[in-house]
Amino acid sequence: MARSPDEQMLTFEQALTTVRENITAAHVAPAVEILPLGSVRGRVLAEDLVADRDYPPFHRSTRDGFAVRAAEVAKTPVTFNVVGLARAGEPYAGNFAGRSGCAVEIMTGAPLPDGTDAVVMIEHTREVASGPSSGGSNPARRVEILKSVRSLDNVVRQGSETAAGGRVVPRGRRLGPGEIGLAASIGSAQVPVFARPHVAILPTGDEVVGVDEKPAWFEIRNSNAMALAAQVEASGGVPHLCGIAPDSREALGRLIENGLACDLLVLSGGISVGKYDFVAEVLTGLGAEFFIQGVAIRPGKPLAFGRVRERFFFALPGNPVSTFVTLELFVRPAIACLGGAAFEQPVYLKARLGAPVRPPTGLTTFMPARVTRDEACSNEPVVNLVGWQGSGDLVGLAEANCFLVAHPHQTDLGPGDWVDVLPKNW
Ligand code: AMP
Ligand code: MG
Repeated sequence: MARSPDEQMLTFEQALTTVRENITAAHVAPAVEILPLGSVRGRVLAEDLVADRDYPPFHRSTRDGFAVRAAEVAKTPVTFNVVGLARAGEPYAGNFAGRSGCAVEIMTGAPLPDGTDAVVMIEHTREVASGPSSGGSNPARRVEILKSVRSLDNVVRQGSETAAGGRVVPRGRRLGPGEIGLAASIGSAQVPVFARPHVAILPTGDEVVGVDEKPAWFEIRNSNAMALAAQVEASGGVPHLCGIAPDSREALGRLIENGLACDLLVLSGGISVGKYDFVAEVLTGLGAEFFIQGVAIRPGKPLAFGRVRERFFFALPGNPVSTFVTLELFVRPAIACLGGAAFEQPVYLKARLGAPVRPPTGLTTFMPARVTRDEACSNEPVVNLVGWQGSGDLVGLAEANCFLVAHPHQTDLGPGDWVDVLPKNW
């Protein structure tokens, strides 16, 4: 006997686990592309990046000052002969080993001269009047050290960031500016990355018309496809706009079959219980297996997820905010996973609630909100709902910079409560 819709309904956490388990169990192995380092931002690394040498490659000074033997400055003040200079790009050329009563002037970024083991900051030294040089005609420089240092003070030890051969970025990591800088430092001019998954985007609805069309008074423009395409790109996928499916079984079936040429199919609209909501029926007719039909979340309750002809699909509810939220929560980690990255669970941050909120019971609720810095209260993060009119309100969504997350048991949230927030593009 068919179960009633509410019996099939998964909690948010169960639904996320269902998506993760099914997508990871498919063991998708994306193709590998080799790209120049300048073109890999946002791409997923296909092989570990490994250090070509120690980092830092030498004991590096972090200060301008004087390189000394720490043991010789245990008691201060003490005055040394300045026997040379070490600067970034030009190491000290002399031989310090075995000499005592000497210091080498050193600049930030320079290699520590052999025989020295610490740097005294220039602020803790004083040049003293030069005496006659021992050998030549140049007067010797002398410096007074005013403060002791311990061995390796103001020095980053060779190999302390990573040793030669060490993994610095793991396969599967998405490459951002930090990883790109690191890749450059180890000489990875060409980088192996995974091919991006192709994602078919298929909005449905007889009332939906193209963005460049003039809608009749009862029609609305296809905002979902554009927002979804932008989200798919931001998630690491390649969006393919597949037109607009009318609310007819035949046309919908044809367009769904076209969309199955991609790695993933994302539909919007037509998945609820309305008389013209044909998406589930048409997918079933094509042999679809459903893993999720309904999730206890708001917005986005009618969400469906499954597989048809070896392709995963998500059928997202058509209301623009529902579509946006369900893509962020479920489709985004799925795209990451299909593209060789880890399944990225949403991570909540905490903020103090501004005005009271009464979310519905039994649902995980994602409400468009803005988090700001409360200058009146220790600069704590404070979150407030944006004015919005429910899940069709794109104006409210655009105003938001996060979602205030209320868990099923949290039905009465008061001002000052620490609450969960999910940044809009986490
Ligand atoms: P549905 O899920 O098909 O019942 O649609 C729910 C609401 O979302 C309706 O008010 C639709 O007009 C609206 N909607 C559906 N598809 C789109 C779309 N592609 N762009 C903007 N709004 C849409
Ligand atoms: Mg519809």
